[in-house]
Amino acid sequence: MEDKVLFLEPVCTHNIWGGTRLREDFGYPAEGDDIGECWGISAHPNGDDTVREGQYKGQHLSEMWEKHPELFGNLGNRYDRFPLLVKIIDAKDDLSIQVHPDDVYAREHENGSYGKTECWYVLDCPEDATLVIGHHARDKEELTRMIEERRWNDFIREIPVHKGDFIQIDPGTVHAIKGGLLILETQQNSDITYRVYDYDRLSNGKPRELHVKQSIDVIKAPAAPVSECVKETGETEKNKLQKLYGCTYYQVFKLSVDGTCEFSQEFPFLNMTVTEGSGTLDGKAVKKGDHFILLNGYGEVRLQGEMEAIASTTGG
Ligand code: ZN
Repeated sequence: MEDKVLFLEPVCTHNIWGGTRLREDFGYPAEGDDIGECWGISAHPNGDDTVREGQYKGQHLSEMWEKHPELFGNLGNRYDRFPLLVKIIDAKDDLSIQVHPDDVYAREHENGSYGKTECWYVLDCPEDATLVIGHHARDKEELTRMIEERRWNDFIREIPVHKGDFIQIDPGTVHAIKGGLLILETQQNSDITYRVYDYDRLSNGKPRELHVKQSIDVIKAPAAPVSECVKETGETEKNKLQKLYGCTYYQVFKLSVDGTCEFSQEFPFLNMTVTEGSGTLDGKAVKKGDHFILLNGYGEVRLQGEMEAIASTTGG
């Protein structure tokens, strides 16, 4: 019988702002105390996951996409690579203030890369947590001045954030994950980041590269209001695939399984990450930290146990 689900072996990264939760809370076999990201569902060359088990064991997700397009709904005329990337991010310290380009800018300036539209689901954070989203400049001219004069306090829009919040970050939106946040990120399959400001930190004795020109090019001014970027997800309806957000690039869902959750997998494919608890997927044990893709034509899905998961597929 053909495998209808791909369990993936994630790739973890080391970052100056990373911590130890990806090993200690999620069980990923990464060493050190600077583990920043787990690329749980990724076909990007900077962290191309492999299939963990089954008939495709050992193959990279990028190869799967190329050799078996039918497993992902034959989307080749719309995407020339696996379109999404799902990460868990453990920020022990603040990430740089950054921005990502859109498809048009990335194609032209970054070697044909995709742009990066991304969104965050806050898995955990302290009571008084904040993050950076947007800025206070009224127009491009003021924005350029604020950046060139390094008036970060005037420029940066920092807002309170809570566990369970969902944040949409369109290209051109300045943002930063702040220390203490544990986030599940769903994004376009891209790794292009322009750093505007890095708190003058040193990495191996040197400041990390900044991309001031590109940042000024792509940051939109004025910034979109906070209400357009942040959504409280509130109480989740149990045992239901609950949609959090949809845009051109992705649809993101939350699942709270308590007992039995059944739904039909009718999307081209459906990415899933178990973020809390454990249970079974059609009889097979799954637990916190597992990343898998329910392939095209999966049909009826039966999840049992007590767990939370975030799922995603392509845009509508
Ligand atoms: Zn980002």
